[in-house]
Amino acid sequence: MSSKRYQLKETTRALTPTGGFLDGFAFSLNPYVGCAFGDAGGCPFCYVRMLPVARSESGPWGSWIIAKSNLADRLERELAALENSGRLAQTTIFMSSATDPYQGIERKLLLTRAALEAFIRRPMRRLLIQTRSPIIERDLDLIRALGERAIVSITIETDDDQVRRALTPTSPSIERRLETARMFRERGVFTQVAIAPMMPNHATRFAQLVDDAADRVIVDTYFDGDGARGARSQALGIGELYARHGYDEWFRRGAERELLEAMKARLGEHRLLFSRDGFNAV
Ligand code: SF4
Repeated sequence: MSSKRYQLKETTRALTPTGGFLDGFAFSLNPYVGCAFGDAGGCPFCYVRMLPVARSESGPWGSWIIAKSNLADRLERELAALENSGRLAQTTIFMSSATDPYQGIERKLLLTRAALEAFIRRPMRRLLIQTRSPIIERDLDLIRALGERAIVSITIETDDDQVRRALTPTSPSIERRLETARMFRERGVFTQVAIAPMMPNHATRFAQLVDDAADRVIVDTYFDGDGARGARSQALGIGELYARHGYDEWFRRGAERELLEAMKARLGEHRLLFSRDGFNAV
């Protein structure tokens, strides 16, 4: 893995009003700017690397991470303001939309954990925690304390660890992520598996694997979920990457149909959501 540059910086705000793809949530919360999972060929589909926030830093996506050092203070103040205005009980928050809140540095900095502590002091209506990292297990106590307000969403793009190693090598193994999802579900936390973006898979086996790991499953594709009908993914070289690995057939509209059918058959329609509608189901 290449060396990374870490910086601590103060932020002017913790909560950002959402728009676009995640407009079902009122705010997003990103404890970090940049994401270590994007390093060394990881998450080649991550279009955050194309956004202005990423381009303003020097060095490839994944090689630098900025930690918002005063996040807890800012969040505390913003939650207090929402509470004082009577809006907190209706507030919905997506953590995180442009970084993974449980990337490695979180073990040491505890910014995400401090945010959870602030949410327990001032509970909102819904907090969705989106991650691919088993480090989230450390915070099971706090997430359980949020009760029905919390949804844990674990990204698992494929059931095939060979595909995972080829396409997103910095991500934890499939089995490890399934274990994390199962653990949260077994402990009573509402848990979803986000197959986003869907990668080459064995539909029936995948459906079987997520059945006991998820209360619900969201399937998303490069063509429905990259915000540009696949053009962003194409610009990121996903078509060429798939061709290099012999996965050409999977980079096309409609490649998700077999998986959707298998999921429907195994989980039932009520546990299956698709793309934007799924991510905005608060
Ligand atoms: S974990 Fe998410 S934010 Fe981080 S590089 Fe991967 S897709 Fe991008």
